[in-house]
Amino acid sequence: MSVTVTVDHVTKQFGKLTVLKDVCVEIRPGELFFLLGPSGCGKTTLLRCLAGFHTPDSGTLKVDGRDITNLPPHKRDMGMVFQHYALWPHLTLAENVAFGLEMRKVSTSETQQRVMEALSRVHLAERAHDKPNQLSGGQQQRVALARALVIRPQCILLDEPLSNLDAQLRLEMRSEIRSICKQAGLTAIYVTHDQKEALSIADRIAVMKDGVIQQVGAPEDLYQRPSNRFVAGFIGEANFIHGRVREVTSTTVTVEAPCGIFVAAVANSTFALDEQVELCIRPENIRLDQPSSNLPNRLHGLFSESTYLGEVAQHLITIPSSNESPILLKAFELSPKSGRLKLGDPIDLWIEQHHVIITKQTPAAS
Ligand code: ADP
Ligand code: MG
Repeated sequence: MSVTVTVDHVTKQFGKLTVLKDVCVEIRPGELFFLLGPSGCGKTTLLRCLAGFHTPDSGTLKVDGRDITNLPPHKRDMGMVFQHYALWPHLTLAENVAFGLEMRKVSTSETQQRVMEALSRVHLAERAHDKPNQLSGGQQQRVALARALVIRPQCILLDEPLSNLDAQLRLEMRSEIRSICKQAGLTAIYVTHDQKEALSIADRIAVMKDGVIQQVGAPEDLYQRPSNRFVAGFIGEANFIHGRVREVTSTTVTVEAPCGIFVAAVANSTFALDEQVELCIRPENIRLDQPSSNLPNRLHGLFSESTYLGEVAQHLITIPSSNESPILLKAFELSPKSGRLKLGDPIDLWIEQHHVIITKQTPAAS
């Protein structure tokens, strides 16, 4: 059974420090939902509020509409997987997994059956009688997952579950965790500071900064339509150009920047004439070929630096600007042709209108 989890105007303080500021978010049944943000932004605190280890100072937490804000952890039906999963070394995997059920006074025969079911879910049933030190790091993390699954939670909370694993294993375990959560049909809330981890497996992501949710959306929404500079820069790479709105039509917004005029495809924009905005252009969306017709968003610059990386080359291009400092744009060229450009060469570039992202100058919330 998967559940809806609602975080409604939750604020949490530690002494004078406000760690969660009026957080509102709804996690849908069966969804793999990510809380993504830099270290210290309040992700773990929110997860611990959901698990019942912290009580919010204000606001409510609900599961399927039922208020759980003041329920003790063991009455919440939430499985939790921590960064430091600490299995007991002297116990077998089965005994490690059974521990949560003993606390809940489940009968011996039911415990055995549920432990094997949980270990099967993480593909470790045949290792039930091994000790943790006979397992790899990834396998140990799967035992930690089984330990959370065995209580048959309605929801599973994962706090940086892969951060103790080496890079290669982290990649493998990402999709493994997703498939385990999906097969169990669980609503899952996954905390990480790693944007690639979130982009690669999330259904939806909430990007957090300083205790405030900046934006919630599917990975491609956040990448293609970030609502502010923080989100744009935290998820992927971006060039930022400061400008002022000069014209708004029903389908476009024109922005004047010191290095040129930009036209962005924006339907029903909420931008006002003269508003200060930040343009955000992804390096892979800077085109170095010739546009086919008389399209806007052409710039002229000097080729300043290039790093060849095999499948892609990363170029830095200096664009003259009407104010004192020129603008340095980063552009990615896929399947680069070697030796085509020399440092200091003049270069024309252009950007398609739907790749010019305009964000509000001030963060959406602060
Ligand atoms: P994240 O998980 O995003 O890295 P945390 O939620 O752990 O961030 O912490 C957010 C902020 O709250 C940090 O500044 C941290 O030092 C502070 N903090 C977390 N837990 C406590 C606590 N129990 N007492 C006091 N301050 C805390
Ligand atoms: Mg944390």
